[in-house]
Amino acid sequence: MFAKNSLESNLSKHHKILNQKSVNRKTFHYFCKPMEIKKKDIRALTKEQLREFFVKNGDKAFRGNQVYEWLWQKAAYSFDDMTNLSKDTRQMLEDNYVINNIKVDTMQRSNDGTIKNAVRLHDNLIVESVLIPTKTRTTACVSSQVGCSLDCKFCATARLKRMRNLNPDEIYDQVVAIDNESRLYHNRPLSNIVFMGMGEPLMNYNNVIKAIDKITSNEGLGMSPKRIVVSTSGVPKMIKKMADDNVKFKLAVSLHSAIDEVRTTIMPFNATFPLADLREALVYWYEKTRNRITYEYVVWNGINDKRKDVDALVQFCKFAPSKVNIIEYNPIDDGEFQQAKSEAIDMYQKVLEANNITVTVRRSRGKDIDAACGQLANKS
Ligand code: SAH
Repeated sequence: MFAKNSLESNLSKHHKILNQKSVNRKTFHYFCKPMEIKKKDIRALTKEQLREFFVKNGDKAFRGNQVYEWLWQKAAYSFDDMTNLSKDTRQMLEDNYVINNIKVDTMQRSNDGTIKNAVRLHDNLIVESVLIPTKTRTTACVSSQVGCSLDCKFCATARLKRMRNLNPDEIYDQVVAIDNESRLYHNRPLSNIVFMGMGEPLMNYNNVIKAIDKITSNEGLGMSPKRIVVSTSGVPKMIKKMADDNVKFKLAVSLHSAIDEVRTTIMPFNATFPLADLREALVYWYEKTRNRITYEYVVWNGINDKRKDVDALVQFCKFAPSKVNIIEYNPIDDGEFQQAKSEAIDMYQKVLEANNITVTVRRSRGKDIDAACGQLANKS
């Protein structure tokens, strides 16, 4: 009771002060701060919560469905876009909520058709996402965190401090933005999504799952989960959790070496999550989901380009059905890491194939605009 009274008296003082012309700034702040009403992000609400909000405010529950559709299927940027709602209803939403949508700050287009978006979040932080077109598909490469807490020595994003996790809607919005660009510049909708932008998706697991739920739901973009790949540096506990959650998307692991000593040098967090733990989690994943695993692998000069490195990889691949993607190194530094010679890549390919392991050698896209794997570092 006492608290309520003091709140009310504070409120009335606040209004009085607001109405005075010659207001002393200090006093103003003193009363203003505790009173600030922070509007909630409307997209944090479930459909049910939206329906309840309307009922509570004397309207019909189905109004909640309409708003939900505007927010997710039609990706509305403002309440004013919601043209089938009355002006009063839009005003009521405006008074209570905000839509913290992302804004594409700059868009760069590469000679090869790749597009990179620098995306501004509501708190002015920036993340990047990329559209990669090929003959048969257009893939969105999206970020899951602002910066990254992992410390892979060869990755530009690792040099940015991890500022925060992205919300589900911020992840979803990146996909919508790229889908729009795909339709506009390539005359086709987005066909695939890879979580290979900034951040470690399994360290923002709940939000990534919520975003994927929305992307795959018919109330969102209705995409098949089979067209989505979550790429991780390998967090064993979370890989097991994904298996337990019976997720339907695909898993890629950035392996780069199957020898602990080497992997720890280039990906120091491997000391905390050694290969034996990763291997155990991957076997668990396969047993539960029956989904084969893709290993992302860069071969560097003098680091993992010897026969013993390939042999270790072959052994690692035998634990669960898998496929190896050899990806090109995109230089980010002053030469500490160098792409291995083509003989080394050929050796990898030959030995893996001889052991019946599927292997693809992939060229990078969008290098001229720093949009290739591991180059996302908010430089533009
Ligand atoms: N944290 C997640 C996703 C982001 S990195 C993960 O590690 O999988 C996306 C992919 O780019 C990973 O396979 C990563 O190992 C790779 N990568 C990072 N830096 C790179 C670089 N400079 N050149 C080529 N690939 C790189």
